[in-house]
Amino acid sequence: MKAEIIAVGTEILVGDIVNTNAQFLSRELFNLGIDMYYQTVAGDNPLRLAEAIRLAFGRADMVIFSGGLGPTEDDLTKETVAEYFGVPLLFHKEIQDEIKEYLKGYAKTGYPESNWKQAYIPEDALILHNKRGTAPGVILEKDGKIAVLLPGPPRELLPMFTEEVVPYLRAKSDFVMEAKVLRLFGIGEARVGEIVSDLMAGGNPTVAPYAKDNEVTLRIAAKGKTKAEAEQMIETVRQEIESRLGEFVYGYNEENMAKTTASLLMNRGLTIACAESCTAGLLTATLGDIPGVSAVLSESIVTYSNEAKMKYLGVQKETLEQFGAVSKETAWEMAEGIRNAANADIGVSITGIAGPDGGTPEKPVGLVYVGVSYCGNVIVKKLNLHGNRTKVRQGTVMHALNAVRECILKNER
Ligand code: ATP
Ligand code: MG
Repeated sequence: MKAEIIAVGTEILVGDIVNTNAQFLSRELFNLGIDMYYQTVAGDNPLRLAEAIRLAFGRADMVIFSGGLGPTEDDLTKETVAEYFGVPLLFHKEIQDEIKEYLKGYAKTGYPESNWKQAYIPEDALILHNKRGTAPGVILEKDGKIAVLLPGPPRELLPMFTEEVVPYLRAKSDFVMEAKVLRLFGIGEARVGEIVSDLMAGGNPTVAPYAKDNEVTLRIAAKGKTKAEAEQMIETVRQEIESRLGEFVYGYNEENMAKTTASLLMNRGLTIACAESCTAGLLTATLGDIPGVSAVLSESIVTYSNEAKMKYLGVQKETLEQFGAVSKETAWEMAEGIRNAANADIGVSITGIAGPDGGTPEKPVGLVYVGVSYCGNVIVKKLNLHGNRTKVRQGTVMHALNAVRECILKNER
């Protein structure tokens, strides 16, 4: 099946709102294994919308519409689609009752007559009931063409798609689509692409790399007759990929680095404390995003100045004078210092130059040292990161989390 999306609304066209519905729908359709080659945004204008509909159905079997189902004059998606399909709009008493019910709390001044427009549904269409608004969604099928009409507000569109349209589409298709995302750290997209190029050439399962901020993901997607068959196909490819790239794979699907590292700490009951210079608390805040982390995150301290590094972490004056604040030696003492001060299992330190100023030829912007003190050992990693201040700080956090993860795992081997 080939699909397209038409997002309706002048406010998208003029840049007042971002077309997040199309982004959501694109991802969902991809996950369902439905091909899409075009997307359109049309303003609230019946002639141009009609033209967009004609074009889209000339290329696709299914068109998903977002927006323009509201009660106002300029909401005309349903009317224009019904006209294209050559079907009348029929009044539905039960929809009017649903709208009345929904508006009960609001309509102290009587029901707005304009809402009854929403109780008109194209003949023989499937009605998608809207629990979160007044506009019902619609699925219209005729002559092998499918129009899916969804309300514009994302809080209505997203659940309606997930709850009603996905089951409808799954029932229509005779295969199941499954996917798994492998998350890799410490290797670039190009290198990953080279190593798995033979697997990327396959049609089913498909393997596709994506470069994200500071990491690469590999998405394995398989079409099977059953869920179990698709999953087995994915598993075979996953094993093959991990036999080549296993050392870089740190998590799957939604398990990002913070979640992975925090889970390791929480599962093992290992406490952690951080001493941050150039990240100014970003590592701690990133860990703090993970629910339950308070059980293991004992304390953190931001030490920008040399004085603070000495006062709170016991970094030696001589160390700072001889090697500087951004050095392997300082990172070493900071990691050891915070672990002792907090009496934690793991101490992490970060000291570096985030830029844009402050770099020198010997110590350029992006030079960062990350230290981890654990089980009587201290390791210090020297990083040379690229990009602006934000990228350097975010990259540092990823490296610090990964260093903690590696220390824990290495200690268990
Ligand atoms: P309503 O009953 O609210 O009028 P509607 O189905 O007519 O619903 P629109 O009028 O097109 O939808 O949009 C209503 C609101 O939904 C917009 O103001 C905007 O905030 C949001 N919205 C609409 N389309 C999109 C889109 N493509 N992506 C993200 N948000 C959208
Ligand atoms: Mg509207």
